[in-house]
Amino acid sequence: MIIKFLRQQFVLLLTGVFLVSVLFACQRVPIADSPTPTATPTATPATEATLANTLFPPVAYPDRELSASPAQLPKLPFAYDALEKAIDAETMKLHHDRHHATYVENLNEALQKHPELQNRSVEAMLRDLNSIPEDIRETVRNNGGGHLNHTIFWQIMSPNGGGEPTGEIAQQINQTFGSFDAFRKQFNEEGEDRFGSGWVWLVRNEQGQLQIATTPNQDSPIMDGLYPIMGNDVWEHAYYLRYQNRRAEYLNNWWNVVNWSEINRRLQAVSQQQG
Ligand code: MN
Repeated sequence: MIIKFLRQQFVLLLTGVFLVSVLFACQRVPIADSPTPTATPTATPATEATLANTLFPPVAYPDRELSASPAQLPKLPFAYDALEKAIDAETMKLHHDRHHATYVENLNEALQKHPELQNRSVEAMLRDLNSIPEDIRETVRNNGGGHLNHTIFWQIMSPNGGGEPTGEIAQQINQTFGSFDAFRKQFNEEGEDRFGSGWVWLVRNEQGQLQIATTPNQDSPIMDGLYPIMGNDVWEHAYYLRYQNRRAEYLNNWWNVVNWSEINRRLQAVSQQQG
């Protein structure tokens, strides 16, 4: 009788321990939270979700501007041939490893003449070019702008990109331009009409409204108080190997690699900071 009672108690105890272990294990399952750009860098392979991590520290968000002490070339968050739906591998390699790298080198070289400027972000210098000593002002404008523009450019493209916009950016595009198709058409036209070298942008102005803008050379929209949400590079170096002089075809294909997740993150970041 006593042995049977003890055996029952033992079984109950084991069951209890088992249930508590299960509950404990469940609580320790990590919550599948979407990673934020502030997350600690990890060695995870570059996917859209970990993109911001792999680019850390050069991020170019409103609250995490680009360092100039010294400026650093960010790694491409994908392989050179990953954007073949729009851009060939050879172009990507030249564009990132040579063109962008040269902007970074030239900026750092110029700032060595005025080391006190290295305490300021690239964006802070571009917003207030008149405060930059005249002997390096144009160099900072062109190469600081080139560094900022390209850092954003690599982030807002993805091999998993393309398709219709999602989330908040989709709503705001519809409200502002009527539809995604209307927006894309206007963006392509303005990119095509940008004479010579430059960029076409979707920007957020100080009133919180979206608008399409273009800039010449490597000028950044932030020089005009406009925050770049997304932009396409219409310099010939961005497309000439595959498309030759057919900029319109490049502009059209580029939508196949547009990274709407990252664009939503940029919109959210600037909305939080500027209201
Ligand atoms: Mn470029």
